[in-house]
Amino acid sequence: MSQLKTVLVAGGGYAGIIAANRLARKKLPIRILLITAQDRFQERIRNHQILAGTLKRTYSVRSLLHKKVELILAKIEKIDKDSKTVILNGGSSSLVYDHLVYSLGVQGSLGAGSKETYVRVENVADCERMHEIISKNRTAKITVLGAGLSGIETASELAVKFPESAVTLIDAGRFGAGFSAGAQSKIRSFLEHNHVKILENSKIIRFEEKELIDADSRKIGHDLCIVAGGLSASKVGLDSGFRTNPIGQIYVNQFLEVEGNPEILGAGDCAQIVSAGYGHLRMSCATALPMGIYAAERLAYRLGANSNKGSLPFSFAYLGRNVSLGRNDGVIQESEPDDTPVEKIWTERSAVWIKEMICKFTILSLRLEKYFDFYFWKSFPEKKKRFSTDRLATGSEK
Ligand SMILES: Cc1cc2nc3c(=O)[nH]c(=O)nc-3n(C[C@H](O)[C@H](O)[C@H](O)COP(=O)(O)OP(=O)(O)OC[C@H]3O[C@@H](n4cnc5c(N)ncnc54)[C@H](O)[C@@H]3O)c2cc1C
Repeated sequence: MSQLKTVLVAGGGYAGIIAANRLARKKLPIRILLITAQDRFQERIRNHQILAGTLKRTYSVRSLLHKKVELILAKIEKIDKDSKTVILNGGSSSLVYDHLVYSLGVQGSLGAGSKETYVRVENVADCERMHEIISKNRTAKITVLGAGLSGIETASELAVKFPESAVTLIDAGRFGAGFSAGAQSKIRSFLEHNHVKILENSKIIRFEEKELIDADSRKIGHDLCIVAGGLSASKVGLDSGFRTNPIGQIYVNQFLEVEGNPEILGAGDCAQIVSAGYGHLRMSCATALPMGIYAAERLAYRLGANSNKGSLPFSFAYLGRNVSLGRNDGVIQESEPDDTPVEKIWTERSAVWIKEMICKFTILSLRLEKYFDFYFWKSFPEKKKRFSTDRLATGSEK
């Protein structure tokens, strides 16, 4: 009898869970272990709801995993590529792999300010802690730093839930980049109606306990500051000697494989595809889920299973972007496959419904992938593709 190969999935987020579930159903002689830090699933796309206290349910990672996938709750410290070993819990234990799916997401550590005053929106525990603080100080002056999707959602959710608070949303550039004119105007008018002050072209260069200072020496005072920008990927990749970009994402090719170590695949926020033709991809759940599925298909293909998907390079086209504005409004905007906005938008009740369906769809996808191939996505249109060879585009390193 041939010996079982060990596949380790590092990280139990959207990419990791869906990768493990898809792989578990392949008829392959493998053992799959998913290693993640907490048993509670970190449903990051609802972190702004944790801040505002509007989140209704949580899920355990175990409940979302295929029964064949073994769950290891541990902190991954480092990956030793030479000995194919993952070091856990401060070096107290380790696991050896034949194949590794690296899906550790973003880091979520606070680079500035004290824990009483500052919080990073991608960190679930920080959001819970900050919710307690805001609930006790409902008239707080709150600054949301970063006016991307998560910053807009956070400012909106807080302004609606805590109407006596004073929320300022800071954008380093022009507000609403990535949205069409119609979507921008809808979001802006919602924020203004809910007394959110929008500060544009304000590049913050100093973080003080109770104020931010921008490049034009403007001082923006706060009681609490929620940082919703400047994401950096898990440090494990860099610490383990992977080639990474300046924000710590490991470089992978169009098959999501690490150059020189094709037994390691990267998926989700922690990986950047550096082959030509992938510049449109942004960190998002919308990208992490297909990357996770693809990583499983590619691995299955390499291990000898039939997989048309896994035999071809990863390909992904965006359909649009969606942003919630509190619980009763939102904007859904269609986009070109490369994420360029088009003018078609939905707002108000239809947007609320679509956005909620999308959030539920992510959990449903993780669950149903335990049983059958459920998740699907649109490939990038063939005529717009410009794949290079499978060599990494090293010139993109800054
Ligand atoms: C407020 C907010 C709203 C968002 N809204 C949207 C949206 O509407 N649509 C959208 O597409 N995207 C949205 N996003 C982005 C989305 O949440 C991320 O892109 C997505 O979570 C990426 O999934 P992932 O699997 O790559 O990483 P993650 O979800 O971050 O999962 C990584 C997992 O690895 C674990 N882990 C990390 N380091 C270690 C370690 N050292 N040891 C053990 N385990 C570890 C973590 O605990 C986590 O479970 C939003 C994000 C935020 C913060």
